[in-house]
Amino acid sequence: MGHHERISSKLGHFRPSLTLELKRIVQERLAAGLPVYDFGLGETKGDLAPRIGDAGAKAFHEGRTQYADPAGLPDVRQAVLAWLGLEGQYQVENVVITSGAKQALFNVMLAVCNPGDAVLFDAAPWVSYLPQAAAASTRHVVVQPQAGDANYLKITGDDLRRALKQEPGARVFLLNSPVNPTGQVYSADEVEALLQVCVEQGVYFLLDRLYWRLMFDGNAYPEPRVDDDTKPWLIQVDGLSKNFRRTGGIRIGWSVAPTDVTKAMINLQSHYTSGPAVPTQHAALAGIACPYSNELRDDLQHKRDLLLREAPKMRGVRVWPTAGAFYSFWDVRALIGKRMPDGGTIKGSDDLAAYLLKNAGVVTASGAAFEQDGYLRISFATPDDHITGGVAAAAAAFGQLV
Ligand code: PLP
Repeated sequence: MGHHERISSKLGHFRPSLTLELKRIVQERLAAGLPVYDFGLGETKGDLAPRIGDAGAKAFHEGRTQYADPAGLPDVRQAVLAWLGLEGQYQVENVVITSGAKQALFNVMLAVCNPGDAVLFDAAPWVSYLPQAAAASTRHVVVQPQAGDANYLKITGDDLRRALKQEPGARVFLLNSPVNPTGQVYSADEVEALLQVCVEQGVYFLLDRLYWRLMFDGNAYPEPRVDDDTKPWLIQVDGLSKNFRRTGGIRIGWSVAPTDVTKAMINLQSHYTSGPAVPTQHAALAGIACPYSNELRDDLQHKRDLLLREAPKMRGVRVWPTAGAFYSFWDVRALIGKRMPDGGTIKGSDDLAAYLLKNAGVVTASGAAFEQDGYLRISFATPDDHITGGVAAAAAAFGQLV
Protein backbone atom coordinates (compact mmCIF):
# COMPACT_ATOMS: atom_id res chain seq x y z
CA MET A 1 0.00 0.00 0.00
CA GLY A 2 1.48 3.37 -1.03
CA HIS A 3 1.97 6.09 1.53
CA HIS A 4 -0.79 8.22 0.01
CA GLU A 5 -3.34 5.45 0.60
CA ARG A 6 -2.78 5.19 4.33
CA ILE A 7 -4.71 8.40 5.08
CA SER A 8 -8.16 9.15 3.70
CA SER A 9 -8.34 11.30 0.60
CA LYS A 10 -10.47 13.69 2.64
CA LEU A 11 -7.82 14.39 5.27
CA GLY A 12 -4.63 13.46 3.42
CA HIS A 13 -4.00 16.96 2.08
CA PHE A 14 -4.57 18.75 5.40
CA ARG A 15 -1.82 21.01 6.65
CA PRO A 16 -1.51 21.68 10.35
CA SER A 17 -3.25 24.82 11.57
CA LEU A 18 -0.98 27.69 10.46
CA THR A 19 -1.48 29.74 13.58
CA LEU A 20 -0.32 26.93 15.84
CA GLU A 21 2.69 26.45 13.55
CA LEU A 22 3.58 30.12 14.12
CA LYS A 23 3.56 29.56 17.86
CA ARG A 24 6.12 26.80 17.37
CA ILE A 25 8.44 29.04 15.29
CA VAL A 26 8.22 31.79 17.90
CA GLN A 27 9.23 29.38 20.63
CA GLU A 28 12.19 28.15 18.58
CA ARG A 29 13.44 31.69 18.03
CA LEU A 30 13.04 32.61 21.68
CA ALA A 31 14.92 29.48 22.74
CA ALA A 32 17.74 30.54 20.38
CA GLY A 33 17.86 34.03 21.96
CA LEU A 34 16.69 35.76 18.76
CA PRO A 35 14.38 38.78 18.88
CA VAL A 36 10.73 38.13 18.28
CA TYR A 37 7.88 40.55 17.74
CA ASP A 38 4.92 38.32 17.98
CA PHE A 39 1.92 39.35 15.88
CA GLY A 40 1.17 35.75 15.03
CA LEU A 41 -1.20 33.87 17.24
CA GLY A 42 -4.72 35.12 17.86
CA GLU A 43 -4.53 34.89 21.60
CA THR A 44 -4.82 37.59 24.25
CA LYS A 45 -2.06 37.91 26.83
CA GLY A 46 -2.33 38.54 30.55
CA ASP A 47 -3.66 36.67 33.55
CA LEU A 48 -6.63 34.40 33.80
CA ALA A 49 -9.38 35.98 35.93
CA PRO A 50 -9.07 34.31 39.36
CA ARG A 51 -12.76 33.52 39.48
CA ILE A 52 -12.46 31.42 36.31
CA GLY A 53 -9.42 29.48 37.52
CA ASP A 54 -10.85 29.04 41.00
CA ALA A 55 -14.12 27.64 39.70
CA GLY A 56 -12.28 25.08 37.58
CA ALA A 57 -10.00 24.10 40.46
CA LYS A 58 -12.96 23.84 42.84
CA ALA A 59 -14.79 21.55 40.43
CA PHE A 60 -11.77 19.24 40.35
CA HIS A 61 -11.37 19.32 44.12
CA GLU A 62 -15.01 18.52 44.64
CA GLY A 63 -14.77 15.56 42.29
CA ARG A 64 -17.02 16.97 39.61
CA THR A 65 -15.36 14.66 37.16
CA GLN A 66 -18.09 12.20 36.27
CA TYR A 67 -19.75 11.90 32.89
CA ALA A 68 -22.35 14.60 32.41
CA ASP A 69 -25.01 15.55 29.89
CA PRO A 70 -23.33 15.50 26.44
CA ALA A 71 -25.17 18.74 25.63
CA GLY A 72 -23.36 20.50 28.47
CA LEU A 73 -24.25 21.33 32.06
CA PRO A 74 -27.76 22.83 32.35
CA ASP A 75 -26.45 25.84 34.30
CA VAL A 76 -23.91 26.61 31.62
CA ARG A 77 -26.48 26.27 28.84
CA GLN A 78 -28.77 28.67 30.70
CA ALA A 79 -25.92 31.10 31.37
CA VAL A 80 -25.08 31.15 27.66
CA LEU A 81 -28.56 32.45 26.86
CA ALA A 82 -28.16 35.24 29.40
CA TRP A 83 -24.63 36.02 28.14
CA LEU A 84 -25.98 36.44 24.61
CA GLY A 85 -29.14 38.27 25.72
CA LEU A 86 -31.24 35.52 24.15
CA GLU A 87 -33.24 34.34 27.17
CA GLY A 88 -36.48 35.67 25.71
CA GLN A 89 -36.00 34.00 22.34
CA TYR A 90 -34.52 30.59 23.09
CA GLN A 91 -34.65 27.79 25.65
CA VAL A 92 -31.87 25.70 27.15
CA GLU A 93 -32.88 23.06 24.54
CA ASN A 94 -31.37 25.30 21.87
CA VAL A 95 -27.89 25.41 23.41
CA VAL A 96 -24.99 22.96 23.11
CA ILE A 97 -21.77 23.43 25.05
CA THR A 98 -18.75 22.32 23.04
CA SER A 99 -14.99 21.89 23.25
CA GLY A 100 -14.31 25.35 21.87
CA ALA A 101 -16.04 27.27 19.11
CA LYS A 102 -14.22 25.04 16.64
CA GLN A 103 -16.23 22.04 17.68
CA ALA A 104 -19.47 24.00 17.63
CA LEU A 105 -18.82 25.02 14.02
CA PHE A 106 -17.90 21.50 13.04
CA ASN A 107 -21.01 20.12 14.78
CA VAL A 108 -23.15 22.42 12.65
CA MET A 109 -21.59 21.28 9.39
CA LEU A 110 -21.94 17.63 10.34
CA ALA A 111 -25.51 18.12 11.54
CA VAL A 112 -26.97 19.93 8.53
CA CYS A 113 -24.83 19.02 5.51
CA ASN A 114 -24.92 16.00 3.27
CA PRO A 115 -21.77 14.89 1.47
CA GLY A 116 -21.11 17.19 -1.46
CA ASP A 117 -23.27 20.06 -0.20
CA ALA A 118 -21.83 23.52 -0.61
CA VAL A 119 -20.88 25.64 2.39
CA LEU A 120 -20.34 29.31 1.61
CA PHE A 121 -17.85 31.56 3.36
CA ASP A 122 -17.13 35.26 3.38
CA ALA A 123 -14.20 36.57 1.36
CA ALA A 124 -11.40 36.02 3.88
CA PRO A 125 -12.32 32.79 5.65
CA TRP A 126 -10.54 32.00 8.90
CA VAL A 127 -7.93 29.22 8.54
CA SER A 128 -9.90 26.33 9.98
CA TYR A 129 -13.18 26.85 8.11
CA LEU A 130 -12.12 25.19 4.87
CA PRO A 131 -10.50 22.13 6.50
CA GLN A 132 -13.64 21.74 8.61
CA ALA A 133 -15.81 21.90 5.51
CA ALA A 134 -13.62 19.27 3.86
CA ALA A 135 -13.72 17.00 6.91
CA ALA A 136 -17.52 17.29 6.85
CA SER A 137 -17.39 16.09 3.20
CA THR A 138 -18.77 19.38 1.92
CA ARG A 139 -17.53 21.67 -0.82
CA HIS A 140 -16.45 25.16 0.14
CA VAL A 141 -17.27 28.29 -1.80
CA VAL A 142 -15.58 31.58 -0.94
CA VAL A 143 -17.97 34.41 -1.80
CA GLN A 144 -16.21 37.32 -3.49
CA PRO A 145 -17.36 40.91 -3.03
CA GLN A 146 -18.20 42.66 -6.27
CA ALA A 147 -16.75 45.81 -4.72
CA GLY A 148 -13.37 44.07 -4.28
CA ASP A 149 -11.69 45.48 -1.19
CA ALA A 150 -13.45 48.87 -1.40
CA ASN A 151 -15.52 47.88 1.64
CA TYR A 152 -12.61 45.97 3.20
CA LEU A 153 -13.63 42.64 1.65
CA LYS A 154 -17.02 42.64 3.32
CA ILE A 155 -19.60 40.90 1.17
CA THR A 156 -23.14 42.14 0.56
CA GLY A 157 -26.52 40.47 0.31
CA ASP A 158 -26.24 40.79 -3.48
CA ASP A 159 -22.83 39.11 -3.47
CA LEU A 160 -24.32 36.23 -1.53
CA ARG A 161 -27.39 36.02 -3.77
CA ARG A 162 -25.16 35.86 -6.82
CA ALA A 163 -23.06 33.09 -5.29
CA LEU A 164 -26.15 31.11 -4.31
CA LYS A 165 -27.39 31.24 -7.89
CA GLN A 166 -24.32 29.26 -8.87
CA GLU A 167 -24.82 26.86 -5.96
CA PRO A 168 -28.48 25.90 -5.79
CA GLY A 169 -27.71 23.07 -3.34
CA ALA A 170 -25.92 25.27 -0.80
CA ARG A 171 -26.75 24.45 2.82
CA VAL A 172 -24.84 26.90 4.96
CA PHE A 173 -23.48 30.41 4.72
CA LEU A 174 -20.99 31.13 7.45
CA LEU A 175 -20.41 34.74 8.47
CA ASN A 176 -17.66 35.65 10.88
CA SER A 177 -18.06 39.08 12.48
CA PRO A 178 -15.93 40.67 13.87
CA VAL A 179 -13.84 39.14 11.12
CA ASN A 180 -10.69 37.17 11.77
CA PRO A 181 -8.45 38.08 9.84
CA THR A 182 -9.57 41.52 8.67
CA GLY A 183 -10.76 43.14 11.92
CA GLN A 184 -13.92 44.37 10.16
CA VAL A 185 -17.40 44.31 11.65
CA TYR A 186 -20.56 43.82 9.61
CA SER A 187 -23.08 46.55 10.46
CA ALA A 188 -26.62 45.64 11.52
CA ASP A 189 -27.84 46.46 8.00
CA GLU A 190 -25.13 44.37 6.38
CA VAL A 191 -25.92 41.41 8.64
CA GLU A 192 -29.63 41.81 7.99
CA ALA A 193 -29.16 41.81 4.22
CA LEU A 194 -27.17 38.56 4.35
CA LEU A 195 -29.58 36.97 6.82
CA GLN A 196 -32.51 37.93 4.63
CA VAL A 197 -30.99 36.20 1.62
CA CYS A 198 -30.44 33.03 3.65
CA VAL A 199 -34.00 33.03 4.98
CA GLU A 200 -35.39 33.61 1.47
CA GLN A 201 -33.37 30.77 0.02
CA GLY A 202 -33.62 28.31 2.90
CA VAL A 203 -29.90 28.34 3.65
CA TYR A 204 -28.58 28.19 7.22
CA PHE A 205 -27.01 31.45 8.35
CA LEU A 206 -24.18 30.42 10.65
CA LEU A 207 -22.83 33.39 12.59
CA ASP A 208 -19.42 32.98 14.22
CA ARG A 209 -19.45 35.80 16.77
CA LEU A 210 -16.46 34.69 18.78
CA TYR A 211 -15.02 38.23 19.17
CA TRP A 212 -18.33 40.00 19.75
CA ARG A 213 -17.38 41.67 23.04
CA LEU A 214 -14.30 43.23 21.47
CA MET A 215 -16.00 46.09 19.65
CA PHE A 216 -14.13 49.40 19.47
CA ASP A 217 -15.08 53.10 19.44
CA GLY A 218 -18.05 52.60 21.73
CA ASN A 219 -19.99 50.56 19.19
CA ALA A 220 -22.34 47.79 20.31
CA TYR A 221 -22.30 44.40 18.60
CA PRO A 222 -24.75 44.42 15.66
CA GLU A 223 -27.05 41.57 16.68
CA PRO A 224 -28.79 39.48 14.03
CA ARG A 225 -32.58 39.70 13.96
CA VAL A 226 -34.06 36.83 15.97
CA ASP A 227 -37.74 36.20 15.23
CA ASP A 228 -40.05 33.52 13.79
CA ASP A 229 -38.87 34.39 10.31
CA THR A 230 -35.15 33.99 10.98
CA LYS A 231 -35.03 31.41 13.76
CA PRO A 232 -35.37 28.30 11.58
CA TRP A 233 -32.21 29.30 9.69
CA LEU A 234 -30.14 31.19 12.25
CA ILE A 235 -27.34 29.43 14.11
CA GLN A 236 -24.95 31.34 16.36
CA VAL A 237 -21.58 30.10 17.55
CA ASP A 238 -19.55 31.72 20.29
CA GLY A 239 -17.17 30.75 23.08
CA LEU A 240 -14.90 31.69 25.90
CA SER A 241 -11.56 31.83 24.06
CA LYS A 242 -11.33 35.41 22.81
CA ASN A 243 -13.44 37.62 25.05
CA PHE A 244 -11.52 36.66 28.20
CA ARG A 245 -7.80 36.58 28.79
CA ARG A 246 -5.90 33.31 28.67
CA THR A 247 -8.92 31.11 28.09
CA GLY A 248 -8.20 29.50 24.70
CA GLY A 249 -6.93 26.36 26.40
CA ILE A 250 -10.03 25.99 28.54
CA ARG A 251 -11.69 24.80 25.34
CA ILE A 252 -15.28 25.83 25.88
CA GLY A 253 -17.59 27.15 23.17
CA TRP A 254 -21.30 26.91 22.43
CA SER A 255 -23.97 27.09 19.79
CA VAL A 256 -27.51 28.44 19.85
CA ALA A 257 -29.55 26.86 17.09
CA PRO A 258 -33.02 25.62 16.13
CA THR A 259 -34.23 22.73 18.29
CA ASP A 260 -34.00 20.07 15.56
CA VAL A 261 -30.46 21.05 14.63
CA THR A 262 -29.49 21.21 18.29
CA LYS A 263 -30.87 17.70 18.88
CA ALA A 264 -28.80 16.33 16.01
CA MET A 265 -25.66 18.00 17.38
CA ILE A 266 -26.26 16.64 20.88
CA ASN A 267 -26.71 13.14 19.46
CA LEU A 268 -23.47 13.58 17.59
CA GLN A 269 -21.61 14.83 20.67
CA SER A 270 -22.94 11.93 22.70
CA HIS A 271 -21.01 9.67 20.32
CA TYR A 272 -17.73 11.50 19.95
CA THR A 273 -16.82 13.66 22.92
CA SER A 274 -19.62 12.97 25.43
CA GLY A 275 -19.56 16.72 25.96
CA PRO A 276 -16.72 18.97 27.03
CA ALA A 277 -14.72 18.41 30.22
CA VAL A 278 -16.90 19.13 33.24
CA PRO A 279 -14.40 21.14 35.35
CA THR A 280 -13.71 23.46 32.44
CA GLN A 281 -17.44 24.00 31.99
CA HIS A 282 -17.52 25.22 35.59
CA ALA A 283 -14.60 27.53 34.81
CA ALA A 284 -16.44 28.91 31.76
CA LEU A 285 -19.59 29.41 33.80
CA ALA A 286 -17.69 31.57 36.26
CA GLY A 287 -16.51 33.64 33.29
CA ILE A 288 -19.82 34.32 31.60
CA ALA A 289 -22.16 34.45 34.60
CA CYS A 290 -20.59 37.69 35.92
CA PRO A 291 -21.16 41.15 34.47
CA TYR A 292 -18.65 41.55 31.65
CA SER A 293 -15.75 43.88 32.32
CA ASN A 294 -14.65 45.82 29.27
CA GLU A 295 -11.07 45.96 30.54
CA LEU A 296 -9.78 43.67 27.77
CA ARG A 297 -11.62 45.57 25.04
CA ASP A 298 -10.27 48.90 26.29
CA ASP A 299 -6.74 47.57 26.46
CA LEU A 300 -7.02 46.22 22.90
CA GLN A 301 -8.41 49.51 21.64
CA HIS A 302 -5.37 51.23 23.11
CA LYS A 303 -3.14 48.75 21.27
CA ARG A 304 -5.03 49.27 18.04
CA ASP A 305 -4.52 53.02 18.33
CA LEU A 306 -0.83 52.58 19.10
CA LEU A 307 -0.41 50.39 16.03
CA LEU A 308 -2.23 52.91 13.83
CA ARG A 309 0.04 55.70 15.09
CA GLU A 310 3.16 53.69 14.33
CA ALA A 311 1.99 52.25 11.00
CA PRO A 312 2.88 55.22 8.74
CA LYS A 313 6.56 54.35 9.38
CA MET A 314 6.11 51.43 7.00
CA ARG A 315 6.44 52.20 3.31
CA GLY A 316 4.33 50.29 0.82
CA VAL A 317 1.87 49.00 3.37
CA ARG A 318 -1.76 50.06 3.61
CA VAL A 319 -3.06 49.34 7.09
CA TRP A 320 -6.81 48.84 7.32
CA PRO A 321 -8.82 50.36 10.16
CA THR A 322 -9.86 47.81 12.78
CA ALA A 323 -13.40 47.94 14.13
CA GLY A 324 -13.33 44.85 16.34
CA ALA A 325 -11.34 41.77 17.44
CA PHE A 326 -7.57 42.24 17.66
CA TYR A 327 -6.40 41.99 14.10
CA SER A 328 -4.90 44.53 11.77
CA PHE A 329 -4.97 43.64 8.09
CA TRP A 330 -2.11 44.96 6.01
CA ASP A 331 -2.42 45.35 2.27
CA VAL A 332 1.11 44.55 1.09
CA ARG A 333 0.36 44.07 -2.59
CA ALA A 334 2.73 46.91 -3.42
CA LEU A 335 5.60 44.81 -2.05
CA ILE A 336 4.85 41.65 -4.02
CA GLY A 337 7.34 41.20 -6.83
CA LYS A 338 10.09 43.11 -5.04
CA ARG A 339 13.56 41.70 -4.53
CA MET A 340 15.06 40.77 -1.17
CA PRO A 341 18.68 41.66 -0.23
CA ASP A 342 19.66 38.02 -0.90
CA GLY A 343 18.36 38.36 -4.47
CA GLY A 344 15.19 36.30 -4.09
CA THR A 345 11.82 37.68 -5.11
CA ILE A 346 8.76 38.10 -2.90
CA LYS A 347 6.22 36.10 -4.85
CA GLY A 348 3.32 36.40 -2.44
CA SER A 349 2.39 37.03 1.16
CA ASP A 350 3.74 33.64 2.26
CA ASP A 351 7.19 34.80 1.08
CA LEU A 352 6.77 38.18 2.73
CA ALA A 353 5.74 36.65 6.06
CA ALA A 354 8.74 34.29 5.91
CA TYR A 355 11.05 37.21 5.02
CA LEU A 356 9.78 39.29 7.95
CA LEU A 357 10.19 36.43 10.37
CA LYS A 358 13.70 35.50 9.23
CA ASN A 359 15.08 39.02 8.83
CA ALA A 360 13.24 41.05 11.42
CA GLY A 361 11.83 38.51 13.87
CA VAL A 362 8.37 39.83 13.08
CA VAL A 363 5.75 37.10 13.22
CA THR A 364 2.70 37.67 11.05
CA ALA A 365 0.13 35.40 9.44
CA SER A 366 0.17 35.31 5.65
CA GLY A 367 -3.07 36.37 3.99
CA ALA A 368 -2.77 33.33 1.75
CA ALA A 369 -3.86 31.22 4.72
CA PHE A 370 -7.11 33.20 4.58
CA GLU A 371 -7.50 32.96 0.80
CA GLN A 372 -6.21 36.53 0.45
CA ASP A 373 -2.72 36.55 -0.97
CA GLY A 374 -1.22 40.04 -0.88
CA TYR A 375 -2.17 40.75 2.72
CA LEU A 376 -0.74 40.06 6.14
CA ARG A 377 -2.71 39.54 9.33
CA ILE A 378 -1.29 41.16 12.44
CA SER A 379 -2.56 40.14 15.85
CA PHE A 380 -2.03 43.17 18.09
CA ALA A 381 -2.95 41.32 21.29
CA THR A 382 0.71 41.66 22.13
CA PRO A 383 2.74 43.84 24.52
CA ASP A 384 3.04 47.51 23.54
CA ASP A 385 6.80 47.26 23.03
CA HIS A 386 6.22 44.46 20.51
CA ILE A 387 3.95 46.82 18.62
CA THR A 388 6.42 49.72 18.53
CA GLY A 389 9.49 47.49 18.10
CA GLY A 390 7.76 45.22 15.60
CA VAL A 391 6.55 48.03 13.37
CA ALA A 392 10.04 49.59 13.41
CA ALA A 393 11.66 46.24 12.57
CA ALA A 394 9.10 45.57 9.83
CA ALA A 395 9.59 49.08 8.41
CA ALA A 396 13.35 48.48 8.23
CA ALA A 397 12.89 45.09 6.57
CA PHE A 398 10.36 46.45 4.06
CA GLY A 399 12.79 49.28 3.34
CA GLN A 400 15.39 46.76 2.14
CA LEU A 401 13.13 45.43 -0.58
CA VAL A 402 13.84 46.82 -4.01
N1 PLP B 1 -13.70 31.14 14.96
C1 PLP B 1 -12.80 32.13 14.77
C2 PLP B 1 -13.13 33.24 13.87
C3 PLP B 1 -11.55 32.07 15.42
O1 PLP B 1 -10.67 33.05 15.24
C4 PLP B 1 -11.26 30.96 16.25
C5 PLP B 1 -9.96 30.83 16.92
O2 PLP B 1 -8.98 31.42 16.56
C6 PLP B 1 -12.23 29.97 16.42
C7 PLP B 1 -13.43 30.10 15.75
C8 PLP B 1 -12.01 28.78 17.29
O3 PLP B 1 -12.19 29.10 18.61
P1 PLP B 1 -11.96 28.08 19.81
O4 PLP B 1 -10.55 28.26 20.25
O5 PLP B 1 -12.96 28.51 20.85
O6 PLP B 1 -12.23 26.71 19.31
